[in-house]
Amino acid sequence: MVITKETDMRVLSVEVEVAKKTKKGQVCSWCGGMIMKGETFETVRLRVTERGIAKTVSEKLHPECTVAASTLSDVPTFVFGEYRRGTNVKVPV
Ligand SMILES: [Zn+2]
Repeated sequence: MVITKETDMRVLSVEVEVAKKTKKGQVCSWCGGMIMKGETFETVRLRVTERGIAKTVSEKLHPECTVAASTLSDVPTFVFGEYRRGTNVKVPV
């Protein structure tokens, strides 16, 4: 699932898994770009509460997009494909 700012979601904790090479194409949740077969990606797991219900969501990101996400003062809550790859610059709408 994609993290969205439209809800009352609160992030309790963030955990980044060790980078892995993908065996099949994935889509990066940060930039919406492809993570090609054989490329490295990171899984970001967030413990969140939404409407009072705790749950875990995980997102696959390019390693450079994880770095970009970690620069936001706001804990990474973002809309799918909102940012440019490897940056915290929003894609103009
Ligand atoms: Zn990305």
